[in-house]
Amino acid sequence: MTEISESGSQRILTGVRPTGPLHLGHYVGALENWVKLQSDYECFFLIADYQVSDHAEDLPRVRQSVLDVALDWLAVGLEPEKCHFVVESSVPEHAELTTWLSWWTPLGMLQRNPTLKAELSEIESSSSKRSAPLAFFNYPMMQVANILMPKAHLVPTGEDQQPHIEMSREIARKFNTIAGRDIFPEPQGLIGRVGRLVGTDGQAKMSKSLNNAIFIGDSPEDVNKKVRRMFTDPNRIHATDPGTVEGNPVFIYHDAFNPNQDQVDDLKQRYRTGKVGDVEVKDLLSEAINSFLQPFHERRRKFTANTDLVSDALQSGSRYARSVAQETMSDVRDALQINYFK
Ligand code: ATP
Ligand code: MG
Repeated sequence: MTEISESGSQRILTGVRPTGPLHLGHYVGALENWVKLQSDYECFFLIADYQVSDHAEDLPRVRQSVLDVALDWLAVGLEPEKCHFVVESSVPEHAELTTWLSWWTPLGMLQRNPTLKAELSEIESSSSKRSAPLAFFNYPMMQVANILMPKAHLVPTGEDQQPHIEMSREIARKFNTIAGRDIFPEPQGLIGRVGRLVGTDGQAKMSKSLNNAIFIGDSPEDVNKKVRRMFTDPNRIHATDPGTVEGNPVFIYHDAFNPNQDQVDDLKQRYRTGKVGDVEVKDLLSEAINSFLQPFHERRRKFTANTDLVSDALQSGSRYARSVAQETMSDVRDALQINYFK
């Protein structure tokens, strides 16, 4: 793993798809690390609007989500004075680099990618019965281009993005061999303290698209309602039945969001011995999540009242990222000897 103390001049690139507001999974899987590292690295945080072909029928939502994501970033404590907020399509060089890199990417590499396989079967089994568009197969390739564009060293993400980072390493190596010099560093992944937070349904990963998310912007009332409906130990019928804590989503969330360790230990001990009801466990969880979110809501209010700050951050970050991208593309064209008119 890259040493943070040696990281002064190193870069981070990571991002989010503009498919809805951000949730607790994003925070513990990725955002928490972004906030921590924003002063130690030069950071590019990308809103990947080229990569939402599964939302092609709802572009107004994508457009709104670009702003929602930026607002959530500001709410959790990313500071545009320290890092760059980038809208992917404002840097069209991403599309160009994707094309060049795809020359050296065997189709088999994409077909073996486990995240892509899982997402593909989700699309194919969805009620819309839509077949996946060509752009879908291209998106991991674009992610590689996103990462290589600023020559990033570190990519903090949730667990599901690791196969894409592995691809970036392979493609960086291959491109450097072709170029005969090291143009791209081999990026390292960094997974957050919960790499794959389960959703409130206790089944799938918490996701914007699966109706199983607690959003960073959720009001205390929304949080209470969602927690009350959460799944717990399915084999426990009465409060006096001994219950299972391991893998129980309510306790996974207590571990992730309740800083009162004594309270969590006491609840677990009483749950295992049938001495606490679900309502008490859930009420204390709602309380913990609401206190966790409170500082984010305060900051969010400040920026909601001044949306110019949000668009300014997106505009200036994207402009800077484009200048960096143009430098990289000049290196790439030199390496491929396609700078015809230089
Ligand atoms: P979508 O369903 O539209 O793909 P998503 O919720 O999966 O949305 P992404 O934009 O794909 O969100 O992911 C952004 C980042 O957040 C990635 O680094 C991803 O690994 C991380 N992430 C997303 N969901 C979780 C989760 N439940 N637990 C941990 N990390 C997560
Ligand atoms: Mg996703």
